[in-house]
This record gives sequence, C-alpha cells and structure tokens, in this order.
Amino acid sequence: MELSRNLPAGGLYVHVPFCARWCDYCAFYSVIAQPDRLERYVRALIIELEEIERDFQPQTLYFGGGTPTLLDLEQWRRIATALRRRGFDRVNEWTVEGNPRTLDSDKVSLLRELGINRFSLGIQSLDDTLLQRLGRSHSRNDALAACALLRNAGFKNLNIDLMFAIPGQTLAQWETTLRETLALEPEHLSCYEVTYEEDTPLYEQLQAGRFSVDEDLACDMYDLLVDLAEQAGFRRYEISNFARHDLQGLDEFPRWSCQHNINYWRGGPYCGLGPSAASYLHGIRWKNWSDVDRYCACLENHQRPEEEREELSPLGRAGELAAFGLRMTAGWPYALFLQITGYDLRREWAATLEDLIKHELAFDEPDRLRLTARGLRCADWVAQQFLL
Ligand code: SF4
Repeated sequence: MELSRNLPAGGLYVHVPFCARWCDYCAFYSVIAQPDRLERYVRALIIELEEIERDFQPQTLYFGGGTPTLLDLEQWRRIATALRRRGFDRVNEWTVEGNPRTLDSDKVSLLRELGINRFSLGIQSLDDTLLQRLGRSHSRNDALAACALLRNAGFKNLNIDLMFAIPGQTLAQWETTLRETLALEPEHLSCYEVTYEEDTPLYEQLQAGRFSVDEDLACDMYDLLVDLAEQAGFRRYEISNFARHDLQGLDEFPRWSCQHNINYWRGGPYCGLGPSAASYLHGIRWKNWSDVDRYCACLENHQRPEEEREELSPLGRAGELAAFGLRMTAGWPYALFLQITGYDLRREWAATLEDLIKHELAFDEPDRLRLTARGLRCADWVAQQFLL
C-alpha cells in the first residue's frame, strides 16, 4: 500500500443554519429562515472565510445545514467569489446539501456553473405518510422531481439521504423506498436509523409512550439495506454510507465515496465556518457559537466567533481517531495509523484489540484492525474502548 496516497488532505465545512421549518427528529443547530438574518449571515460568513489561516488548503468543500439551498442565487455568487479569492474553489470535491423543496432549475444550474460537483439530497423516505411523520416539508413527488432536476443540470455525483426505523414504518415500506431509491441510480447512499435526541418532538412523543422502539425491526431494516445496496453494485465503506464501485476506485474506498467525510474519519485537518461549526487544525479543536446573531456580531466586531477551544493530547486524539476510523469497513491499517498519529495501535491498545478479536468483534489480520459485521453493529460500544 502506498501510504502517502491515503493520507488525509483537509476539508472545509460551511454550516448554513437556516431551515424553512423544523423536522420532528432534528437536533442540529438551525433557525427558521428570514431574509434579513440570511443576508447578515452571508456577510459574516465571508468575513470568517477571509480570515482562515493562509497555509490551509482544503481538498474538499462541504456546505451542510440547515438547508444551504435556501441561499438565493446572488448570495451563492458572492460566497463563490469569496471562495475563489482564497483559491478554495480548486478542490477535488465540492458538495452541497439540499432539501428537495428548495430547488429550481435556475438554482441547480447556477450551482453547477459555480463548480459544485456533488449534491446530497435529503430525501429520507419516498412514502408521503412517513415524510409527514418526520415533519419533513417535502413530498415524494418533490424528491423525484429534484433528482431529475439535478441530473438534467449535469450533476454526476448524487448522494441520497434516507432514514429507517421511522415510527410506524414497516419492513415492506422500507423495502419499497430502498428499491425505488436504488432505481434512481445515485452514486452514493447515506442511510441512518432514526435516533431520539432530547428536545425534539419525536423524543417527547417517545417519552409520552405514543410509540415504542423495535430494535429487532431496525436490525432487519439495516440488514435489508446492506443486501439490496450490495446487489445494486454499492459497497458499504462506512456503517451508514454506501457508494457505487467501479474499476477506477481507490484501493480502500469505492470510487464514489465521500472524500470530505473520509478526511474526518482518517484524522485530516478541517476548518468549519458558520454558527456551531467545529474546526481541527494543528492539534487544536474549536467550535463556533451555536447562535447566528452572536456569530454575526462577533465577526462584525472583528472577533473570532468561538464558543470553545481545546488542545487535544496526542494520545487522546489518537484514541478518538481509532474510534472514528473503525466505523469504516476498511478499518485502520496499522502503518497508516502510526504515520498519522505517531502511535502504534497494536501496542497502545493491545488488551483492547485482544478482547475485540476474542469476542469476534474484529478480524485478526496482519496489516490492519477491521471490525466484523458484529463489531460494526456495536461500533458505538467499540468506540468507547478507545476513548480516554
Ligand atoms: S433535518 Fe435538515 S431540514 Fe430538517 S430541521 Fe434538521 S437541518 Fe433543517
């Protein structure tokens, strides 16, 4: 294996914390979009962007949210100009997340013209009853129309986000959504089990006993996902992420895997802009205020919009990376882990590795630590074993 080719390169994330309405399961930081606030945010974002340290050169850009596609055409043009001024538009992969309801042909064409080459569409389900159950603002028809719009505009790298184990969802409903989604031939699929975060309407409904969680059904849904995705030519490269594979794929990852996320899982540097965004550069991690007004006020007054900052111990960071990286089906090549962190995974966590292998949660392979199917199922528990 040629190690230098696999070293993480660095990613720039932009959080656009505006939504048309809140979904019932969502705990991400966002506010309901208002034109004045959006405009103030764009001005502040451009200031923050211009202040990124000069030696940071990302290989990937990712606009997430919130709903980045709520920005209007003129705001997109201004942000792209600011990115160009810093040379940040010369990246290998530039992803924008979007809600199907917020797209039209002008916006989609402009995004292509500006250089966005990967689009991540939050479809979640193709069943209107379940979309309403989740509090989503779009319908099945909106989702299908958005896919067609993106393909017509020339997007060749399309991710579709789906959710499973939605309250009331049957295995048959999940299978229908999965088969219909695969028939749309996206390059990438991200599928997440519904989780119940405090302070969300779904969490409150669960606490009030309005429905119960069926873990066995959720496992069956996940197994079905893996089977159907693999039959359709996808490779699972992380617990929740699948990408189409072809012969030009990198050694370890399928051709259409998300490079931006691989950078996080492999411990690369990243810079996050916008309210609540986190950054990690030169061993320091910091996070911006999760408050759009405070974020804007800081930048308008020439202050950093940081809520917290910490210097990680090298061993603590290595433990975190072991935990994150094992979510990938490629696991951690020992030599690469040593090169990135300075620690030998086999020596530093010898007892943990022995335990994982003994309980058939990890394979006993000479060159890497890789979780078994069972290990991937309890990856959160495995992760805890590496965190200090
Ligand atoms: S899931 Fe997306 S669109 Fe829905 S509230 Fe959360 S950030 Fe907004």
